[in-house]
Amino acid sequence: MTPDNSWHALSLKDVCSILSVDASRGLTDAEVQLRLAEHGPNLLPEARQRPLWRVIASQFASPLIYILFVAAVISAAMGHWTDAGVILLVVFINAGIGTFQEGRAERSVASLRRLSSLKSRVFRDGHERIIEARDLVPGDVLVLAAGDALGADARLIHGAALEISEAALTGESLPVAKQTEPLGEDTPLADRTNMVYSATHVTAGRARAVVTSTGQATEVGKIASLTLQAKDPKTPLEQRLAQFGKWLTAGAVVLFLAILITGYLRGLPFGDIFMVAVSQMVSVVPEGLQVAMTIGLAVGMQRMVRRRALVRRLAAVETLGSTTIICTDKTGTLTRNEMTVTVAVLPDGRRVQITGSGYNPEGGLLAGDQPVAEDDSAVRSLTEAVALCNDASLVPPDARDSRWRALGDPTEAALLVFAVKHGVDIHALQRRWQRHAEIPFDSDSKLMVTQHRCGNAIRTVIKGAPEKVLALCGDSAGQQRFLSATEALAQEALRVLAVAEATHESVDLQQGYDALGGRIQLLGLVGQMDPPREEVKAAVEKCLAAGIRPVMVTGDHQITGLAIARMLGIAREGDMAVDGAKLDMMPEQDLRASLDRISVFARVHPAQKLRIVEALQAQGQVVAMTGDGVNDAPALATADVGVAMGMTGTEVAKSAAKMVITDDNFASIVHAVEEGRLVRRNLGKVVLFLFATSLDEVLVLMLALLLGYPLPLAAVQILWINIVTEGTVTVNLIMEGLEGDEMKCRPPKRNEALIGRESLNRLLVMVGTSVAVVFGFFHWRLSTGVSHPLVQTETFTLMAVCQWFNVLNCRSATKSALTFDVFRNWWLVGGLLLGNLLHFLVVYTEPMNRLFRTVPIPLADFFLIGALGSLVLWAEEIRKRLLSMRLPHSASA
Ligand code: ATP
Repeated sequence: MTPDNSWHALSLKDVCSILSVDASRGLTDAEVQLRLAEHGPNLLPEARQRPLWRVIASQFASPLIYILFVAAVISAAMGHWTDAGVILLVVFINAGIGTFQEGRAERSVASLRRLSSLKSRVFRDGHERIIEARDLVPGDVLVLAAGDALGADARLIHGAALEISEAALTGESLPVAKQTEPLGEDTPLADRTNMVYSATHVTAGRARAVVTSTGQATEVGKIASLTLQAKDPKTPLEQRLAQFGKWLTAGAVVLFLAILITGYLRGLPFGDIFMVAVSQMVSVVPEGLQVAMTIGLAVGMQRMVRRRALVRRLAAVETLGSTTIICTDKTGTLTRNEMTVTVAVLPDGRRVQITGSGYNPEGGLLAGDQPVAEDDSAVRSLTEAVALCNDASLVPPDARDSRWRALGDPTEAALLVFAVKHGVDIHALQRRWQRHAEIPFDSDSKLMVTQHRCGNAIRTVIKGAPEKVLALCGDSAGQQRFLSATEALAQEALRVLAVAEATHESVDLQQGYDALGGRIQLLGLVGQMDPPREEVKAAVEKCLAAGIRPVMVTGDHQITGLAIARMLGIAREGDMAVDGAKLDMMPEQDLRASLDRISVFARVHPAQKLRIVEALQAQGQVVAMTGDGVNDAPALATADVGVAMGMTGTEVAKSAAKMVITDDNFASIVHAVEEGRLVRRNLGKVVLFLFATSLDEVLVLMLALLLGYPLPLAAVQILWINIVTEGTVTVNLIMEGLEGDEMKCRPPKRNEALIGRESLNRLLVMVGTSVAVVFGFFHWRLSTGVSHPLVQTETFTLMAVCQWFNVLNCRSATKSALTFDVFRNWWLVGGLLLGNLLHFLVVYTEPMNRLFRTVPIPLADFFLIGALGSLVLWAEEIRKRLLSMRLPHSASA
């Protein structure tokens, strides 16, 4: 079916007939199915998911396991077969836990990847649809607009001023202009201006194109090196934790030597002391940390998805938690993006009110209290103009939705509603005045022009931001009057557009806006209301309480922006708004000096967004910035957390951003920040717990060795505590839910240590108590003549009980473990139950007794051990109580 890669040389008719598609209707669903079966899904050969055996094998590739294997071999060589067996058993239990947990993390990351996959707009069966790019087939008719990313190679069949950035394919940074005419057979790839390629994106214009190849048959598909999906680099926190892990491992080796030397000096049997030294070394290696980190980030991502934020880069999960400034768009993010034209101002100064709301075209026009006559020529010219310079359409109520809906840009749909309310028959008008040229709207120029023909007559309509339209009008007195009228409308928080028509018929749009200079006449201003989203006000308050400052960055008028920012609490008393023109004039120092007081940047063009991000970052702020257009990509990529809009955002913005908000709502960004803080906090809990357990064991053992006691724990028991007691609960700490006060404290610094001053205090309390309890108990039992195996078993059990209570302690830095709902974290409850069950097996079953050198503990002793272990909990409870008396609202993990 493919004519050997020469689609560019064929006529449009031939392209369509070879691909058997009617370009005006697209493929039918049945044809798509057949083609999908023939060509397969439109996918590049991704880095394949790791097979299970690799996941299992990777569990054995760690320093901890190497140490244990060496220890097993040495034990076996010394004839200690049971010890060797236990070590191997523990290694396999560890691998089992690790495989299960990594599988969980990998599955969730993979499912998130699928969620953030590329979408394409196609024309199928006579209707426009948005589909997953993986479902594209040869013959599909693509509908392209600025900001779309191409998911397949295609031949252009129709286009208006289409420009494509092919940087990803050719390295050429300037966009390439495209056209639809056939080219010579041997035109090189880079010059095939009638073709568009997968992995490139549309920077301007509109077009239709027929897909010629998909998947591996595309040009990118042929370049193997590009096709492997890049792995996420390590996040800053991951890097720091890895570094921390290395230090601990080095510490573990020192400890190993210290124990061997002390044991040797004390004359203890080498076999015993060697095993103890190995077990201790293992206790210090923080093997749970890496897994906890991976799972923490993956779980954080999943929780964010539930709250409508899709994180595309793992690093963003933790950066979100440190965000100090959220720069947000206005339209659609803070407001509902449901426009209603409520006011129009005419050249003769009349102010017309428009009744009705939403996209329901019922309502009327009133000037003063009088209805405006349908034949009022000034109003008719204005309403016809806005209906012509318009790409939107209105959808009447149907079975799916009982309300009128807007298809396309809501600003334009609202203008259609306005025209209908004045009695304009839109379809008849658009049929009579066929459009033959246009300059599409873009947020840099903030203007849109269309040219229409009816017989020999030509009409050129322009609409856009008032100061831009007015600048093209000749009449300066009129300009001044309209600028004041614009400001008056903007004070009412209305979004204002000016509408004008060319007075001269022979305007050539090929020359751009210059062709219009001095040749247009204003038809009026329209003011649109776009109500704020209900939940935003509360979200803004939450931000402020959390030490995060929201800043509005809008393309709209400064006065409109400020009015809405005041309504929502974003602009405080004394805050100012700066517009794009002023920003351009501002030297960098002045900008930085006044950043604290600017809460609205208005009429900014996308390049200025980048400057704002960089200025804020230079002040040490961690910046989240929203964006939707193709030109927002640089700012999104530079911001610490670029946030793209899922509904209105272009594919290009989405791929540049680190996070996508699926409902375009500001409140969802704030929720994501909250979840980001939770991930950091939970990781802090894990580090604290791992640290506390290791210190407990090391200190008890060293005390015994140095003070001349026999070994308080057998080596295999130390191993058990490390791998099983700890392994069953540590990672589950990461599943802790929100405590509710995450957004009541200041953002943690980007590089803030996970173990801060407060954690050190807690460590002191927890470790101090458990070492005193365990060592005191051990001393007491020995001194009352209890047999050594029973003393060891009881000390071993007490140590395990202390760790179980410690896990409960670590759940919250401030809240009591007794009142704080324990059953909320089922993972932890499950882990504790499993840990308990396994421990009982070790203490009460005969084969395990032999392996772990334990003996059954009398039941009465068991209660005593439980009560003593709980002292660790009580000590921490007292600290929390004292803290809450001192600082009623303290909150940090
Ligand atoms: P935000 O950046 O906060 O989402 P915005 O949506 O108002 O704000 P833009 O979409 O860039 O920003 O619009 C900027 C201005 O351009 C608007 O205030 C309006 O005057 C004008 N404008 C918006 N949409 C159109 C359009 N479809 N045709 C012509 N002019 C438009």
